[in-house]
Amino acid sequence: MEMTEKPRILVVDDDKMIREGCERILARMGCEVATAPNGEVALRTLEGASFSVVLLDLMMPGIEGFKVLTLIRQFWPDILVIVITGYATIETAIEAMKRGAYGFIPKPFEGDQLRVMVGRAIERKQLKEDVRRMEQERQKTLQDLDAEKSRTRSVVLAMPDGVAVTDPEGVVVLMNPAFLRLLSLEPSRRPGEPISAYLPDAELCRQLLEVSRGRLDDPTQGISYEFSPREEKFLLAHMTPVLSETGECRGAVTVLVDVTHLKALDRIKSAFVAQVSHELRSPLSTIHQQLAVVLNELVAEVPEEQRNILARAKEKTLGLIALIGDLLDLSRIEAGVHLKEPKPIALEELLKGVVDFLFARAKGRQQTLTLELPQEKLPLVDGDPLALESVFGNLITNAINYTQDGGEIRVRAARDGGQIRVAVQDNGIGIEEKHLAKIFERFYRVKNEKTRAITGTGLGLSIVKGIVDGLGGSISVESRPGAGSTFTVSLPPSRSSG
Ligand code: ADP
Repeated sequence: MEMTEKPRILVVDDDKMIREGCERILARMGCEVATAPNGEVALRTLEGASFSVVLLDLMMPGIEGFKVLTLIRQFWPDILVIVITGYATIETAIEAMKRGAYGFIPKPFEGDQLRVMVGRAIERKQLKEDVRRMEQERQKTLQDLDAEKSRTRSVVLAMPDGVAVTDPEGVVVLMNPAFLRLLSLEPSRRPGEPISAYLPDAELCRQLLEVSRGRLDDPTQGISYEFSPREEKFLLAHMTPVLSETGECRGAVTVLVDVTHLKALDRIKSAFVAQVSHELRSPLSTIHQQLAVVLNELVAEVPEEQRNILARAKEKTLGLIALIGDLLDLSRIEAGVHLKEPKPIALEELLKGVVDFLFARAKGRQQTLTLELPQEKLPLVDGDPLALESVFGNLITNAINYTQDGGEIRVRAARDGGQIRVAVQDNGIGIEEKHLAKIFERFYRVKNEKTRAITGTGLGLSIVKGIVDGLGGSISVESRPGAGSTFTVSLPPSRSSG
């Protein structure tokens, strides 16, 4: 029964006057009233609709009033029964209450008596209804909460990515099966231990602890870290702090994504570039040589204009050959070839070789190219000689290219603290401040009046940086437009040299 509905009341009495009298009074109280002259009709009426209160005359022909009371209590226990009787003795009253009547009105009664009694019954009925509804709502809210919790749980459990939640101390409070699977841990492993008990990478654990403690510069942004838990497996960890409403750090969520297939794809891509570059190199070299032959030997027979076209074509093939060389270098760095079998190398010898090789080119532009070495022997460095030649070859070639005719290029090697430093200095066109951070990126070239005529691929410095980083060294640049540039490479000494 809804609260907004009118309370429905059944009046059961064989006295027509009383039935009609009650009906009038109750209708005025705002009730919906039905009447029945005897027990049989009353029971049938109750079957047809739901009632809140029954006013029941105990003394009627046919079924005895007490019998009707018992049946109502049995089949409609929620209905409140108020008995009315002319035999208003204590015994009948007690008997009626014992059988579950809610109240008792002796005949004859005043309208007020009826109103008060029925009013109280309706109130009580509504109170009970309210309590029942509240209980139902509470149950429903609990059910919803439960469903929500289990939904979230199912999502976390079913996620293909690994998820772990750590508290500010770096102790794991929650993790999903994928997390354990990605790290090849037993599916039965439980949370509760420090993160280092589950993650095999010390640096990752250190970073995660920083994030869990809220030590990030920008705690709204997480950080990412790639690591390899075992051979041929690469995982990317995204770590994000969990912040409370007041911005305090409550811990961190780490999501592990398997990037092994992306790595494989990357390797295939590099291999493809290497393969294609390799295949292109010989025919291009042939074309270049043939153009050179045509230009050199048929000078007399070829008209001036066509000779220019051929010269430009030769120039372009040279550019393509350089690009292919750079691409091959780059794919070698990506494949880590230069790191596979490092050898201890004497930089003095290596630098002499490179400078000798490029001396003619500098001379062709009336530039001076000098090499300054320290008196004392330099410590050896570990690396692949071809890769190191590529580093200094690229830097010196750049110095030659980006310096005007007659300029000066100095290569200096020296010991500096624990490191070995090689500086390649020129007094050429220099680089504007805004480009300095970008010139080590792949394919980045400074475009201005001075560089327009200089051909290049934009790959040289990215190759240099790739190699130097791979050897555990670093590269820096200082430059002023119009004054010149100095590129400085720092390398750690060989481990085998002690
Ligand atoms: P590129 O093939 O264009 O030389 P690099 O990666 O070697 O490619 O160099 C990137 C850019 O850095 C060049 O395009 C040039 O603008 C600038 N650069 C490099 N070395 C020098 C230098 N010694 N002097 C002035 N600019 C330089």
